[in-house]
Amino acid sequence: MPMKGLIWFRTDLRLDDNPALLDAIDKCDEVAGIYIFSENQWNDHNESNVKLSFLIKNLEILEKSLSNLNIPLITLNTNSFKSLPKDLNNFSVTNNINQVFWNNEFGINESKRDDLSAQILNNSNIHVSRFDDQVIYEPGILRTGQGKPFSVFTPFKRRWIENFDMNFLEIRKPSALKKSISLNNESSKIQYSKIHKVDIDLWPAGEDAAAARLSNFLELKSRDYNQSRNSPILDGTSRISPYLALGILSPRRCILEGMKLNNFELTSGNKGICKWIDEIVWREFYRNIMHSFPKVSLNKPFQDYTDSIKWRHCDNELKAFYEGRTGFPIVDAGIRQMLTEGWMHNRLRMVVAMFFTKNMLHDWRLGEEFFMKNLIDGDFSSNNGGWQWSASTGTDAAPYFRIFNPITQSQNFDPNGDFIKKFIPELKDVSLKNIHQPKQDLFSSSDYPAPMLDLKTSRLRAIEAFKTAREFNNS
Ligand SMILES: Cc1cc2nc3c(=O)[nH]c(=O)nc-3n(C[C@H](O)[C@H](O)[C@H](O)COP(=O)(O)OP(=O)(O)OC[C@H]3O[C@@H](n4cnc5c(N)ncnc54)[C@H](O)[C@@H]3O)c2cc1C
Repeated sequence: MPMKGLIWFRTDLRLDDNPALLDAIDKCDEVAGIYIFSENQWNDHNESNVKLSFLIKNLEILEKSLSNLNIPLITLNTNSFKSLPKDLNNFSVTNNINQVFWNNEFGINESKRDDLSAQILNNSNIHVSRFDDQVIYEPGILRTGQGKPFSVFTPFKRRWIENFDMNFLEIRKPSALKKSISLNNESSKIQYSKIHKVDIDLWPAGEDAAAARLSNFLELKSRDYNQSRNSPILDGTSRISPYLALGILSPRRCILEGMKLNNFELTSGNKGICKWIDEIVWREFYRNIMHSFPKVSLNKPFQDYTDSIKWRHCDNELKAFYEGRTGFPIVDAGIRQMLTEGWMHNRLRMVVAMFFTKNMLHDWRLGEEFFMKNLIDGDFSSNNGGWQWSASTGTDAAPYFRIFNPITQSQNFDPNGDFIKKFIPELKDVSLKNIHQPKQDLFSSSDYPAPMLDLKTSRLRAIEAFKTAREFNNS
């Protein structure tokens, strides 16, 4: 009897550097791939419409590339993560699958779903093999001297480097199977009812597109990354986050290709490349936080005392923020970039998130949700980490009294106002002198709004709210 395997694809939609796929091909005579979608779950996790449309395009390409290896890809719909394990088991039993392979996801719901799936499959005498493809080290493995999980990036990175071995980056190519599996199930179309306004042509789908984007960035931009990464108009970053978020590209591939250009150095050589690899390690750090501190997946702040902060709630301010009409050009330009491109430059994510949580003093969880609902690269741990950093509620967080001034940020990182003018056409004729803080003119024809708040008083209000929460917890 041929050994039959099933690869359960999730956020690893690629052939390159896919340990579950490689093992399935090594161990089985016939292999199928499966992707199981739940619109309810997608909505529960606030995943965006544009990310869904990107997912569907990538699945179509994955199906074609898997067929070259004689592996059919089936898509199924399920109600939720709760119903999924049973559906996966039914599929496996109906198709006489002996072994199921997958790459781990680290969210709390995902881990529960996976554990239950493994249990049900084992009860059906189906073997389960699980791998890590999103990180270099299994989450939780790197520990402080006291044996605790890391909660600060710099020592985490130090330990990450100390233990690093080039063998971690050995990447094998998958080979084609001799024979295709015959299945008793038909693939079903992914069910969804979503539309979006993002220009999806900015994000060509598939592994080849991801690889081209990576090599283009490494060849042309990575060496200057140290200087250019903070300037939104220069576009000096890789824009590979949507590909990493769905696993169309692996972080190991990114690190390997970066190191190849830097004489296989991690800490010396070109500063731009080292800094860029650092960012991939930040991603791994936030995955560790999600794994070691499950409270962050349960809507809780990392710093417990910040749970007592009295956040404000103002519907009008929220509406203006969501539309990119706060009256602060750099904040609005960032928000509008996200609404039109599905992506926002990192510097602006920090500026926008800090403005929301400090000057507006609104709950970071609302901002986190807004980003997830609009980003094509929505990634729970990086988004949660970024919001909690900006709100000073998280690990490694910015101290609560160090609050970015959006006007100074604008002058420093968009000195000529080019980025602002690109995303806020109402301001295209405003002079350089006024672009960061447009003058309010009663008779102006521009419908760009007046600032929604006063920076000085709102800053003091935020500091007071954090202080009060801290004192309340110390008393
Ligand atoms: C409030 C806030 C929300 C964020 N939400 C997300 C999100 O939902 N998804 C997401 O992928 N990133 C998020 N980030 C991190 C960062 O902004 C994006 O990863 C980056 O802008 C993506 O652009 P790039 O691919 O050009 O990055 P590059 O600068 O080219 O970096 C390469 C890769 O490193 C990783 N990376 C870079 N910066 C960070 C960081 N600060 N934290 C974790 N990983 C990082 C990303 O995977 C990125 O693709 C958020 C940051 C903040 C401050």
